[in-house]
This record gives sequence, C-alpha cells and structure tokens, in this order.
Amino acid sequence: MSQDEKLRKFEVILLGDNHVGKSCLINAFNTLKFNILEPTINVGFTSKVVDVDGSAVRLGIWDTAGQERFRSMTANYYRRVQGTLLVYDIGERKSFSSLDSWLDDLDRYRTCDKMCKILVGNKTDSSARVISTDEGRRFATRHQMLFAETSAKNNTCVKDAFLLLVREMMKIALAKEKEENEMDIPEMKLEIDADLGKQKASGSCSC
Ligand code: GDP
Ligand code: MG
Repeated sequence: MSQDEKLRKFEVILLGDNHVGKSCLINAFNTLKFNILEPTINVGFTSKVVDVDGSAVRLGIWDTAGQERFRSMTANYYRRVQGTLLVYDIGERKSFSSLDSWLDDLDRYRTCDKMCKILVGNKTDSSARVISTDEGRRFATRHQMLFAETSAKNNTCVKDAFLLLVREMMKIALAKEKEENEMDIPEMKLEIDADLGKQKASGSCSC
C-alpha cells in the first residue's frame, strides 16, 4: 500500500449562492492566493493533503456553481461527502436568506448520516456588512453547524474554517471506529474463551 493510500480521506463540498466567494475560498486555501477566477461551471474538484494536529489527511474539495440551473446536477455530489461548507456573503442579505434552501437540498440528497457542516460568512474585508457576526452565529447554532467568518481576499481565517470542519469529521470518524471496535470485542472474547475451553478439554493447554 502506498503512503497516500494509507492516509485517512475525507471529501467536502462548498455550497451557497453564486458569487459569495466559494471558488476564491478554495483557491485561497489551496494556493494561498486570491485570484479572480472563471465562473464555476457545474462542479470542480481539487484534493490536497492537510495536517490536522499531526495527522496527515487527504482532503477532496468539491466546488459547485450556485446557479439554479446547475443545482440538480450538483446534488449528485452531496452523496459523496462527509462535510459541507455553506457559504454566504456578509454584505448580501439574499445569500443569507438562501441558506435554508441550501440546507433543505443537502438534507434531501445527502447519504452521510453524520454530515459535518460549517457556516462560512465570507468577504469580511468589505465594508458593506449587513449580516452581523451574531446573526450568522445564531443561524449556525440553530442548525447545529460550526461557524466561521472569512476573507478569501485577505486570506483571513480561511485555513481555520477548513480545519475546523476537518477536525470535526475526524472526531466523528474516530468515534465511529471506536464504536465498531467495541462491538467486535465481545465476539472475539467468546472465540478466545471457546478456544481455551477446547484446549483445556483436550488437555493440551499448558497454562
Ligand atoms: P462563487 O461564485 O461563490 O464561486 O464566487 P467566486 O469565488 O467566483 O467570487 C465571486 C466574486 O467575489 C469575485 O469577484 C471575487 O473576486 C469576489 N470575492 C470572493 N471572495 C472575496 C472576499 O473575501 N472579499 C472580497 N472583497 N471579494 C471576494
Ligand atoms: Mg465558483
């Protein structure tokens, strides 16, 4: 098995209205640059290895187009991911009002039963704020989401937002593994007990 195959793998998707800065956030996270990009057509995928508290994780990132005409196609990708970054523009009320419908879509199409979500208020560098930090945070709490405010332009808190989500996914994955291991133990113990019994019965046990 190659080093890369041994890595823990997660996939996340960025959702939110057109123009809120999803592609710029991915670019800022992946390349530390703020580029004016071509508009996203349907979906795009990038992948990189990130360090999460000393563990290397391969993170696949799906970028989506926010336009209505791409929404049904985008929904196919909700089934693949364990995490979602739901993005709005802190200077645009409409992008905040759309959050409910993005969450409805996500709920309808996701297959991961423990989907980790982070609400991301982007463009904190702009002076046109209309959604206060408090309002954003309250929405996130109400919908059991993590919360961050970012500027893709200044690369403020971008990495923190991604890592906050990856840490949460890691926590859930570890808890699931622990649960599965614990479920395996009684069976294993029974098998060992049965083996010991057999050995004792046949007089071959030296203990
Ligand atoms: P998407 O449609 O959600 O992928 O949005 P884009 O990433 O294509 O960005 C849409 C527009 O918002 C572009 O003109 C970007 O330059 C701008 N933009 C993205 N992030 C920021 C940010 O953090 N601050 C500011 N001021 N503009 C941003
Ligand atoms: Mg885009």
